Amino acid sequence: MTLRPAIVLLAFAVVAAAAPDGARWWSYVEFLASDKLEGRNTGSEGHRKAAEFVASEFERDGLRPAGEQGYIQPVKFRTLQLDETKSSLALVRDGREQKYELGEEAIIGSRVDPAPEVEAGLVFVGYGLKVPEIGYDDFAGLETRGKIAVYVAGAPPNLSGPLASHYQSGAERAKTLRAAGIIGAISLANPRRMDIPWLRQAGNRGQAAMVLAAPGASDTEGSKIGIVWNPARADDLLAGSGHTFAEILEAVDAGKPVPHFAIPSTLKARTSVTRSELTSQNIAAVYPGSDPVLKNEYVVLSAHIDHLGVGKPVNGDAIFNGAMDNAAGVATVLDTAANLKAARPRVKRSILFLIVTGEEKGLLGSRYFAENPTVPADKIVANVNTDMFLPLYPLKRVTVYGLDESTLGDDVRAVTKEMGIIPQLDPDPERNSFIRSDQYSFILHGIPALAMKDGYVKGAPEEKIFKTWLTERYHSVRDDLNQPVDKTAAATFDELAARLLERVANERTRPAWKNDSFFRRYASNN
Ligand SMILES: [Zn+2]
Repeated sequence: MTLRPAIVLLAFAVVAAAAPDGARWWSYVEFLASDKLEGRNTGSEGHRKAAEFVASEFERDGLRPAGEQGYIQPVKFRTLQLDETKSSLALVRDGREQKYELGEEAIIGSRVDPAPEVEAGLVFVGYGLKVPEIGYDDFAGLETRGKIAVYVAGAPPNLSGPLASHYQSGAERAKTLRAAGIIGAISLANPRRMDIPWLRQAGNRGQAAMVLAAPGASDTEGSKIGIVWNPARADDLLAGSGHTFAEILEAVDAGKPVPHFAIPSTLKARTSVTRSELTSQNIAAVYPGSDPVLKNEYVVLSAHIDHLGVGKPVNGDAIFNGAMDNAAGVATVLDTAANLKAARPRVKRSILFLIVTGEEKGLLGSRYFAENPTVPADKIVANVNTDMFLPLYPLKRVTVYGLDESTLGDDVRAVTKEMGIIPQLDPDPERNSFIRSDQYSFILHGIPALAMKDGYVKGAPEEKIFKTWLTERYHSVRDDLNQPVDKTAAATFDELAARLLERVANERTRPAWKNDSFFRRYASNN
């Protein structure tokens, strides 16, 4: 596909209007990540204020409201709050009961609505995956009915990144476990691949869990408990099985087959949960296309606005400001909208700016939008999502999740070439980033989608900056306004997003999955 000259001119028109120093982008981040908005937790007053701000910016940019109440699409949630003082975990081995402290040894996970009492045997099921595409089955020949599965995060080495991500998603995982007759699960992270240190995970466990209030919206229906076990204490869990966690990790890291075995213990759990309901906000606005036919189609630029709210104070700070996760992405959407306002390019297709809630609770706001779109579902032709794109160093390369999956990847290759930026696949596919943000909600509805991040090469200093950021700031109170950010990189990123949107909006044919893409199956009705 080649760019026609008129389109090139339009792209440059937008670019010329952009603030190349990133000052406007940063001003949005400053507001959204300010203490005043109290970490924008889904359903909170801070989130509502943030949503109001976004709606008023969209209005100022002259965009058409595309929510259900003006720019706002209300989203209803059910919430679950575990009362730890009335909950407990224990393992029974050789008739002896050993209690485990919540937070220290294990966390009762929030994605499963726990049964009040659970008592069941344990079985170690490797990665806990069943992948028909490569004939892989972690459950073959194992006694699994009525048991609680223990599994280690990861996937066999011959599984492609997108496929590995897909089968480790909450919904697919729950389906696999259900099919094996398993009633609950205990997950063990690979300590060498943990984004968030255990202490911080444990510190954040007081968050209420949420599911969409719509019936049938819980993926883990039928599961009685979900537990995240501290990998440093994994040998307690495996005791008596004849296997150690070190041996398992060695196999995982070497790409060798991971063992499967019964664990001679019974898990006993008691839980008490308080249930409630709340409403939060998606925000949507349209920049109308000019082609008489194609204007009825929509290219979506999205970002989530929710974060983790207020938690227990760490060094006197209790607010999870979520500056990079994901005030930064919302700022990119607003910056792109403001650029359009300034340049007013004619684009054939319409551009839908979508800000979603509930991402941190499991991609729920985007899921709700994809299931209840405010424009005709079959007219959404593409999604470009931005979540935590981390402009921590100059933007010389861009990591594109989904680069080889659809024609959108070809579009990214074209616009990055114009800009002298190198597009690349995910250098860390085992982090499962492709399924970990809102683009996945669109993918599951057959819509070609991708997400982009400021990229690094393995072993380069940028990788260290990225990894250090994850360890020290990701989902911590330190992801705030007092951190080094490369605003020029952010401005370049916004320019890239604008050029990509224009290109896709102006193309003659709508984007499509590649013939050999696994995700093409979801587009069977297109
Ligand atoms: Zn997050």
